[in-house]
Amino acid sequence: MKAVQVHSFGGPDALAVEELPVPTPGKGEVLVKLELAGVNYIDVYMRNGSYGRSETYRTPLPMTLGMEGGGSVAALGTDTGTVAVGDRVAYCLARGSYAEYAVVPEGKLVRVPDDIPMHIATALMLQGATAHYLTHSAFRLTSQHVCLVHAGAGGVGQLLIQLAKRNGAYVIATVGTREKAALAKARGADATILYREADFREEVLRLTSGRGVDVVYDSVGRDTLPRSLRSLKRRGTCISFGASSGQPEPITLLELAEAGSVFLTRPHLADYMASPEEIGGRASDLFKAVGEGALSVAIDSTLPLANARRAHELIEGRTTRGKLLLDIAA
Ligand code: NDP
Repeated sequence: MKAVQVHSFGGPDALAVEELPVPTPGKGEVLVKLELAGVNYIDVYMRNGSYGRSETYRTPLPMTLGMEGGGSVAALGTDTGTVAVGDRVAYCLARGSYAEYAVVPEGKLVRVPDDIPMHIATALMLQGATAHYLTHSAFRLTSQHVCLVHAGAGGVGQLLIQLAKRNGAYVIATVGTREKAALAKARGADATILYREADFREEVLRLTSGRGVDVVYDSVGRDTLPRSLRSLKRRGTCISFGASSGQPEPITLLELAEAGSVFLTRPHLADYMASPEEIGGRASDLFKAVGEGALSVAIDSTLPLANARRAHELIEGRTTRGKLLLDIAA
């Protein structure tokens, strides 16, 4: 089978399309014939070595990249029973989806309902689940809350805005361009901040009459985290869930006190997708929202598997507005 491999950590040119044997599912595992793979920022971190020491997301070399996929069940390992050969399935957080086949633990698979197209299901598995746990579990947003969402026109950002609005919160989004501001507004943001034209913290304080926001969802990291903490209301919560601009400088404990006795958490999606029940619950809530017309899933573009390098250049180059997918058969 064709698979996109990484032999040593590096830039997009560390990705190479190679021929590998089709893997065999073992105990509790399922062989999935992939139609689509999702491209996510976590793939960049795994490709460039940022997760070289992660216990949660292991990156042994050589490895087939890709943490999100959609397709059909091709074969079952032993001790399986919740899916059957031919079922339409999607999943995230099992490595190896930039390939024609992947072996996936059965507990990570969700069955894709007939009325949900495969590209929508695949696109929702990782970024959708992230937006879901951020708005429902890491901090449960309600109509009493004001939140700040960085990278509001991004893949996670657009879904996060919509789920935050569905929960009734007031949403302020930061974006890099006017076009992205229009997109974040179209997704429901109540206010947008062009961070290249104005200091986002000053704008947040202006928009909240000096109070600050209840929660910041910060995926940008190095460029934003210190000011995100200072954009919070007293005893507010900062969720630092990514580092698109690089890993932030360490924050001292006293800084949390000085910022208003605020709370800071740095979650991994894996800890909020901790059981088959949790994975299935988030997926069915997301599919339901799509079915009700309450959640639009923006597909930025779909590239052939052989163009995985290009896909990484696009996501790192800040040009994507929504989900990047790889078409496995193209
Ligand atoms: P995005 O579509 O959000 O792409 C990244 C965006 O970040 C860019 O489009 C850009 O938007 C903004 N950005 C700001 N500064 C930079 C910079 N220096 N370099 C590149 N981009 C920058 O990607 P995803 O939706 O796939 O992921 C968003 C973030 O969420 C990532 O950091 C990812 O690691 C994180 N994540 C975390 C998870 C978790 O559970 N912890 C799970 C899933 C994702 P703009 O032009 O508007 O500035």
